[in-house]
Amino acid sequence: MTGFRNSFLYPLLSWLIWPGVFCAGLTGAYFAFQSSAPLLWFNVVYFSVVAIIALFERLMPYEKTWLARDGETFNDIAHTLFNKGGVQIAAAIGATFPIAVASFAQPVLVSPVHFWPDHWPMVFQAILGLIIAEFGLYFAHRLAHEHLSLWRFHALHHSVQRLWVVNTGRFHFMDSLIKIGLSQIPLYLLGAPLPVFLWIGAVTAFVGLLTHCNIDVRTGPLDWILSTPRLHRWHHSRVLAEGNTNYGENLVLWDQVFGTYFNPPRPSSTDIGITGRVASSFWGQVVQPFSKQGYRQIIGRKPKELDQPVVPAAPAEGLPPMMMPSVRTRAD
Ligand SMILES: [Zn+2]
Ligand SMILES: [Zn+2]
Repeated sequence: MTGFRNSFLYPLLSWLIWPGVFCAGLTGAYFAFQSSAPLLWFNVVYFSVVAIIALFERLMPYEKTWLARDGETFNDIAHTLFNKGGVQIAAAIGATFPIAVASFAQPVLVSPVHFWPDHWPMVFQAILGLIIAEFGLYFAHRLAHEHLSLWRFHALHHSVQRLWVVNTGRFHFMDSLIKIGLSQIPLYLLGAPLPVFLWIGAVTAFVGLLTHCNIDVRTGPLDWILSTPRLHRWHHSRVLAEGNTNYGENLVLWDQVFGTYFNPPRPSSTDIGITGRVASSFWGQVVQPFSKQGYRQIIGRKPKELDQPVVPAAPAEGLPPMMMPSVRTRAD
């Protein structure tokens, strides 16, 4: 493997993987959408992309320790594989849900107004839709980090100790519902057509898989436009001042507009996670935010501390002063 790292292929692949996988995914989505069974074929493309990313995670990991399973006995391996299977299905549902909603719900919804520029080429309509949807995604995500009442749901996504392709869909359903609502309702109200929703769903699916991948990719100027693994690793940092940044799901436009863009010139964080604790079982994680005790466990604070104001930590180097952390603290 050291030989591969030193070969000319390694840097070449580092530069090509992100745009290559993204374009391959969108090309596959194009043919899926032209077919008579778009959801089925989109899922075939989606899982093919998952497989390709998983392969490159083994060949070119960004952080080798993130490849390690958390047990060595047979039972531990079986348990890990079972969880991987469950999370992968959740990832697929999470990514394809907006497409399913768009396919079935939009024909019965009548938009009250029609501002949408139908006459534009689809690629520009999709970009416009993405910018509008991303505005809702940005605020849903930022609010989830800045308010404990919403962080209780979003913490599940941040509770992982490593990032890899299978983490992509690890969201509490309440977290996802808020995001889908804030990002898609404005598009419905503006009268965006079904293909715009389909393309936003496709872009979100592939960018999501790629932002969580543990591949040593180089994204250079893409970091200024799209949410990349480098930016998203900062977002998962345990250090609050680094983590409460880069909220964009696909685009980083709104992070740049509102001063939460964070990309200092050093390797992005591998110290990820939260101070609080989430339940170990799937159903435990689903119900945990709804109980008082579960909420306290997720927040990682004792009952008395919940009544006290949060003391902000010093902003990280390169972070705008307005970005004061409010929820997570570094685990000691
Ligand atoms: Zn987050
Ligand atoms: Zn994430």
